Amino acid sequence: MTNEEFREVTIIGSGPAGLTAAIYTARANLRPLVIEGEPSSTGDQPGGQLMLTTEVENYPGFKDGILGPELMGSLRAQAERFGAEYVTAKAHRVDLSSRPFGIWVGDPGASEPTYRTRALIIATGARSLMLGVPAEQRLLGHGVSTCATCDGFFFRGQDIAVVGGGDSAIEEAIFLSRFGSSVTVIHRRKELRASKIMQDRAFRNDKIRFRWNSVVEEVLGDGSVQGVRLRDVVTGETSVLPVSGLFVAIGHAPNTDLFRGQLDMDDAGYLLTHEGTRTSVEGVFACGDVQDQVYRQAVTAAGSGCMAAIDAERWLESLGDEREGPAAASVGGGASEPAVPLGGQDGS
Ligand code: NAP
Repeated sequence: MTNEEFREVTIIGSGPAGLTAAIYTARANLRPLVIEGEPSSTGDQPGGQLMLTTEVENYPGFKDGILGPELMGSLRAQAERFGAEYVTAKAHRVDLSSRPFGIWVGDPGASEPTYRTRALIIATGARSLMLGVPAEQRLLGHGVSTCATCDGFFFRGQDIAVVGGGDSAIEEAIFLSRFGSSVTVIHRRKELRASKIMQDRAFRNDKIRFRWNSVVEEVLGDGSVQGVRLRDVVTGETSVLPVSGLFVAIGHAPNTDLFRGQLDMDDAGYLLTHEGTRTSVEGVFACGDVQDQVYRQAVTAAGSGCMAAIDAERWLESLGDEREGPAAASVGGGASEPAVPLGGQDGS
C-alpha cells in the first residue's frame, strides 16, 4: 500500500518555461502539479532567474517593459486560475525507469516517492556560475553576490565590481551604477560579449569603468569584501582593486543533476531533446534554459514551455488504454498504479 499522489502531468520548475507549460496543461484540464522550488543561498528561486531581474524590456507585449518578479507573478496567477497547483519545495530525486514516474520531495531516501506522474515536464532552468577563487564562497552574502537586483541597494555610495562581459554583467553594471559611486567591469578579454545596445549604454555611463584582459584571482576581506586581487592575463601583472561589492555574472549552468544517468545530456549537462521537447525517456519533456544553450531568453523559454505542454498532452492522448487504469481515476490525490518499466521515447 502506498500513499503517494498521482498526477497526469507534473512540472518541475517555475520560470517562464514551467509556468507557460502549466498554463497550457491547466487549460487542457490536466490539472498540472508544479513543483516550483524553494529559495536557497545559492540563488535558487521559485519563479526562476527573472525573479532576480529588474526591468525586462524585450518580453513581447509590454511596450514600457515589465519588472521580472511582476511578470512571473502574473504567469503564476494565470496558471493557477486554470487549475494549476503549486508545491513550494525542491524535487530531490526522480525515478524515470518506470511509469508512472516517481518524484521525491523531501526525504530522497524514502522508499516511496511523494508523487507519481504519467507525464513529466522538466523546466528546472539554469543557475549562476561562480569564479571558484579563494574567499568567494565564504564572502557570498557578505559583499559577493550574483544578484544586483537583490543586493545592489546595500552598496549605496560604494565602489563595486562586476565580473563578466556578457549581457548579464553589463545589465548588472548599469543597474548597480544607480547605487554605487563607481562600477568596474572586470572582463577576461578586451571585447565584450554583450549585445551592442547594452555595450553602448555602458560606455555612455560615467560611473562604469572597465578592466580589460583581467581575471579575479582572489576576493579580499575577512568579514566582508575589501577588494579583489586581479591579474592581467596579457602582462601577468597583479593588482588590488578596492571594492566593497563583487557581483559575479559569468553565465549559467543547467540544473540537471537530478536527471544525471537517466536522461541524455550534452557535454555541458543541458538536456537533449528531439521532435520538439521530447527527451530520451518517453513521457518526459524538457523546456526552457535546461535544454537551451543558445537563446536563453524568457520568451523562448515560454515558447518551449508551450511546446512541452502540447507535446505532453498529445502523448497522453496517444496512450489510450494505458490511461484507463486506476491511476487515471485517482487524479487529485489517491492511490497509485503499479509502475511499468520503460523503453525509449519512440516506443509509444
Ligand atoms: P554569457 O553570454 O555566457 O556571458 C558570460 C560572460 O562571462 C562572458 O563574457 C565570458 O567571457 C565571461 N566568463 C565566463 N566564465 C568566466 C570565468 N570563469 N571568469 C571570468 N569570466 C568568465 O552569459 P550571460 O551574460 O549570463 O548571458 C546569457 C544569455 O542571456 C545570453 O544569451 C544573453 O544575451 C542573455 N541575457 C539577456 C539580457 C537582456 O537582454 N536584457 C540580460 C541578461 C542575459 P567571454 O566573453 O570571454 O567568453
